[in-house]
Amino acid sequence: MKRYFTSRWLLLGLGLAALVGLTGMNVYTLVRLQQATVQSSQDAQRNKVSEFNAAVANRFNPAVRAFWPLNVEALEGTWRAERRLPDDFTAVLATLSRDSLYAAVYFAPGSFVSCGIGSEVYRFVPETEQLVRIEQPPRAVCDGIGLIRTRVNVLIEEYRWNTKRLFDANRTMNIALINHRGNGIAGYVSLEIDNTYFQRRYLPREMASVFGTREETGISAWIYDWLRGEVVLTNDPTATFERRTVSMSQRFPDILDTWTTAARFDTTPVLVESNNSLWRNLLALGVATLLLVSTIVFMFVLAQRERALALRQAGFLANVTHELKTPIAVMQAAGENLADGRVSDPTRLKAYGTHIQTESMRLRRMIDKLLDVAKTEAGRYPFKPEPYVMADLVDRYLKESGEQADTRLESAVRVVVDRDHFDTILGNLVENARKYGGDTGYVGIRVSRQGRRAVLEVEDRGIGIPPESIKRVFEKFYRVENADTARTKGHGLGLSIVKSLTELNGGRVEVRSTLGSGTTFRISFPITDRTHAN
Ligand code: ADP
Repeated sequence: MKRYFTSRWLLLGLGLAALVGLTGMNVYTLVRLQQATVQSSQDAQRNKVSEFNAAVANRFNPAVRAFWPLNVEALEGTWRAERRLPDDFTAVLATLSRDSLYAAVYFAPGSFVSCGIGSEVYRFVPETEQLVRIEQPPRAVCDGIGLIRTRVNVLIEEYRWNTKRLFDANRTMNIALINHRGNGIAGYVSLEIDNTYFQRRYLPREMASVFGTREETGISAWIYDWLRGEVVLTNDPTATFERRTVSMSQRFPDILDTWTTAARFDTTPVLVESNNSLWRNLLALGVATLLLVSTIVFMFVLAQRERALALRQAGFLANVTHELKTPIAVMQAAGENLADGRVSDPTRLKAYGTHIQTESMRLRRMIDKLLDVAKTEAGRYPFKPEPYVMADLVDRYLKESGEQADTRLESAVRVVVDRDHFDTILGNLVENARKYGGDTGYVGIRVSRQGRRAVLEVEDRGIGIPPESIKRVFEKFYRVENADTARTKGHGLGLSIVKSLTELNGGRVEVRSTLGSGTTFRISFPITDRTHAN
């Protein structure tokens, strides 16, 4: 029995542990998954900034690359001899001047020092494919060529490629054509950037294609001109650019030297959804786990109860058998003596008669109780509810049973109950009050009206019920087990009958008790105005 008991607890523990383990694993997996989603979404957002800058840089690269295969030395020779460019250079300039990115294409020979009187700066005319010398080149072009000239003169010793390009902010892209043999600069090409096209058409298109809108991608992006301190372009006109709220910023390497791309990452709709779904999943998991745990615990408790009930029933059976046998044995012995005719003394005859009478009454009471239980169990209790004045019922019961009690009965409250049931209920309560009422022998019965209910209270000043047992006294076969109750006889059936019958008649039963000083059972029924049975 003991082994069986411990193994049940062990199994319960294992089951719960497995459940907790599984739930923990699930929570862990869900959270990790969410973290991975967040991480990959952030990575994707970061990548977009680099992607954008690379795309913009790429737009400028063909111009530089076009010069790489050309022979700069030949250019120098042709220019010196004929004041013109070789055909392959002309072809490249023609291609560049057709690119909408550039407003105009300029060329200055290597001898260029600065703009001013006598300086040579030529504009490439696409229609005729000729270079036309201009007296007053645009400022931006002069600045650009001046800038690259200074820079390249410093670098030229170690520089290995035949072109070097330099941006003058977003105004010009300047290319120095380097002749490595002669260790000099053969000429400069200055490409004037068409900002109407570049800033108004090209960049917005590129920005939209990489960053989309903030609603779609969760990114607010800006091109910021740090030299001027102003925003050149953004995909999110509703947001203001603030340096400290920016999540990431990146310069354009080598190009557009005064600009940087900055981006702020918000949560994307995908992330919001994945977050919500995480919470939904956790909630569902929590509810499911809770349900499972409570089901397991509930079933376990139920099983424990059933077992306890089964044990009590077995004990009861043994008890009942014993209880039935005692009066029968007494009666049998008395009967035998009488039958033998050996007893003739009238006082002894009377004593035997009384014995048989009380024992048979005891037997009868027990059988009645057992039958009551069986009937309430089967739901086959005869039930004839009628309106009664509650005080009358109590009076009649006291008269018929010969019980004595301290009564306080309010006379006007009427209830609809089955009279036999009421007698059984009251009988059981009074019997208990006597059994557990201690030495005072006090039994109080009170009928009162409380709101819309008629209340019957049976009070004793006896041993009381321990608090931990209060809830259980109405259970079938339950008896408080201690030294006080051990002296009384009973099977734990009376109160279960009281409860079933009270509820069958639409009433409620409660108990209040203080250990060592007394108990009050309180039965209440709804009050009725009916005076006759229908
Ligand atoms: P029984 O009296 O046959 O044991 P009951 O169902 O009538 O069975 O009562 C169940 C248990 O409740 C009793 O065994 C007793 O421990 C406790 N009990 C009932 N009535 C009282 C009372 N008036 N005072 C103290 N304990 C009581």
